[in-house]
Amino acid sequence: MDNKVKVNGLTFVPYLTRDKILEQVKRVASEIRSDLEGSSEPVFICVLNGAFIFAADLIREIGINDCKIAFVRYASYEGTSSTGHVRQLTGLTEDVEGRDVVIIEDIVDTGLTAVKMIDDLKKAQPKSVRFATLLHKPESSRTGFKPDYVAFAIPPKFIIGYGLDLDGKVRNLHDIYVIEED
Ligand code: 5GP
Repeated sequence: MDNKVKVNGLTFVPYLTRDKILEQVKRVASEIRSDLEGSSEPVFICVLNGAFIFAADLIREIGINDCKIAFVRYASYEGTSSTGHVRQLTGLTEDVEGRDVVIIEDIVDTGLTAVKMIDDLKKAQPKSVRFATLLHKPESSRTGFKPDYVAFAIPPKFIIGYGLDLDGKVRNLHDIYVIEED
């Protein structure tokens, strides 16, 4: 694993290796595969930008060919903290009426994005909505929202890598890094 990563004047230290991540991606994939057994054309919704790498690995690992993949885009973060204001930047283009839907998110922090997204999605009348997240910070919750599938529950510290950014950078890192404590 690489050592420290410096970006925008902040230092990050290794937290989760790619091997550990892929192990948990496989576990979550098998839970979703078994819950979707018998489902006709489920729709996976990848939440841009942060979830694109997790979604790519997860959806391929789930291995359901008869599925659709769609993308939505929401923003709430500036730098290393939530603004508390969630904006939809790109809406859903796939028809989800009567379909089983799995939202794939990078991280649930306050839960505000998740709650807004599920609210928006329910207007399109899906048969069911499940929520999968790579990371969950239960201690940061401002909503009590609980994802159906969680690869890792983590403490409320800012992290980067494997799709997660700092001001748009470092999404490309294979591993996950946490901000260095003073
Ligand atoms: P929430 O609405 O649950 O507070 O935040 C969800 C969004 O905040 C995530 O999709 C992600 O974009 C951003 N976010 C929350 N915590 C972190 C973090 O530790 N690192 C990064 N890079 N983004 C985060």
